[in-house]
Amino acid sequence: MKLFTKNKKEVNKHQKALNELIRVVGKERVLSSVEDRICYSYDGTKQKVLPDIVVRPGDTTDVSNTLKIANQYEVPIYARGAGSGLTGGAVPLKGGIVFDLKNMNRIIEICPEDFVATVEPGVVTKQLQDEVAKFDLFYPPDPSSAAFSTIGGNVAECAGGITGLKYGVTRDYILALEIVLPDGSVINTGGKTGYDLTRLFTGSEGTLGIFTKITVKLIPKPEKIRTLAAHFRNKDDAIDAADRIIDNNILPRTLEFLDQMTINALRGHTGTDMGEDVKALLLIDLDGTEESINYEMPVVENACKECNGFRIKVAETAQEREAIWAARRSISPALYNIASHKINEDICVPRSKIKEILQRVDRIKEDQPIYIANFGHIGDGNIHVNIMYNDDPGQEELAEIIVNKVMKEVVALGGSISGEHGIGNKKSQFMELEIPPHEYDIMKRFKSYFDPKGIMNPGKMFIR
Ligand SMILES: Cc1cc2nc3c(=O)[nH]c(=O)nc-3n(C[C@H](O)[C@H](O)[C@H](O)COP(=O)(O)OP(=O)(O)OC[C@H]3O[C@@H](n4cnc5c(N)ncnc54)[C@H](O)[C@@H]3O)c2cc1C
Repeated sequence: MKLFTKNKKEVNKHQKALNELIRVVGKERVLSSVEDRICYSYDGTKQKVLPDIVVRPGDTTDVSNTLKIANQYEVPIYARGAGSGLTGGAVPLKGGIVFDLKNMNRIIEICPEDFVATVEPGVVTKQLQDEVAKFDLFYPPDPSSAAFSTIGGNVAECAGGITGLKYGVTRDYILALEIVLPDGSVINTGGKTGYDLTRLFTGSEGTLGIFTKITVKLIPKPEKIRTLAAHFRNKDDAIDAADRIIDNNILPRTLEFLDQMTINALRGHTGTDMGEDVKALLLIDLDGTEESINYEMPVVENACKECNGFRIKVAETAQEREAIWAARRSISPALYNIASHKINEDICVPRSKIKEILQRVDRIKEDQPIYIANFGHIGDGNIHVNIMYNDDPGQEELAEIIVNKVMKEVVALGGSISGEHGIGNKKSQFMELEIPPHEYDIMKRFKSYFDPKGIMNPGKMFIR
């Protein structure tokens, strides 16, 4: 556990801010004991830095009052949803205040006739999906963390997920935001006139303002979903099959790819019945009406067969579908069968460059004593490159060198350093690989305009 070292002046300011928060926001909403603060010191990256204060706002007024106080005393403020981020977004690198938004978790309204819902930021994604499904509606963004991550965190990271190819990502479903700016003022975005502030704030990773209300677009819930799993003897065949499916004008609801290392890690996990001959796997969901699926499924099966797919299995029952997907959901824990540490890079390249990037990753790895498992949303070019290493001397440094090389190759192929997990502090060193200096400076100017004192999530996104 790290402690951000403060000088005397900063310690003073923090103490004054704490007193003021207790007075204005209320004792019951402000935590300062070490035991409480430890619970807010980390996220999915497992970095740990102890915050000085935790505030758990109940409404927009609490958020506004907290920001006014933080701004006045120039205390850093770190918004936090479920803390499942994979790039360090919610970690309080410079101490200060962690803003726990999980108590603001009301579904304010669902309007089936307008296909919209308005929610508070602490609503868990799956809860929103389940609630709108009762009206036969569908909120498509579906990160694998949907069961625990919050909508606020999803908007801040512009979360993607397995439905991205057909339905897009979080950004495509955000219609309007209520945002509290660092000076405590409240703005509403979402009108059609003027600049599109909703888009600017979506993906802003808690560096510009705090979302307190989120209005999302809904679409009709597809009638049916059917799942297919296809095995391949090499990864190139699986990639060709994915291309061929899309070339046939079929956009699957999900099109997931697993490479050999990922499959090896999964062997023995529930629902994974894979022989040694399986070196790559495609998991495909089709959704729509019975008729559309009946038309599309044979096309998908043929595409897999034409690319040497074998043991192609269409799930006939909900249990079979669940068994197929259980394997996909087990990947994260199963990877620790390979080694004790993981760096998960969610790179994204144009779909036509997937073979090339995986070949380049193989070349980077070559004989290095480290493992790399690749899997992900092949349809939208978003591959999770997992660099697995142990505690042996030099392994962590080697893993970092490999990450560096991979990022350079991604950018050289016209790709992006993050397909869905955001930048946080874990990827800030790579921002300028991808973003040219002029654009980088424009982004920094937006940041200074909204947050002149630099209190919002300092240490994230930008390194200069
Ligand atoms: C097992 C696992 C699977 C995952 N799968 C996916 C996946 O498929 N796709 C994907 O995109 N991500 C995935 N993630 C990453 C993570 O779940 C997402 O980034 C998610 O959006 C984070 O939500 P959260 O509520 O946990 O946010 P946190 O981690 O708490 O915060 C993330 C960022 O959002 C900011 N923030 C939070 N709430 C607000 C708010 N109200 N206003 C302003 N800023 C705010 C924080 O400051 C921080 O910068 C996965 C993570 C895990 C652990």
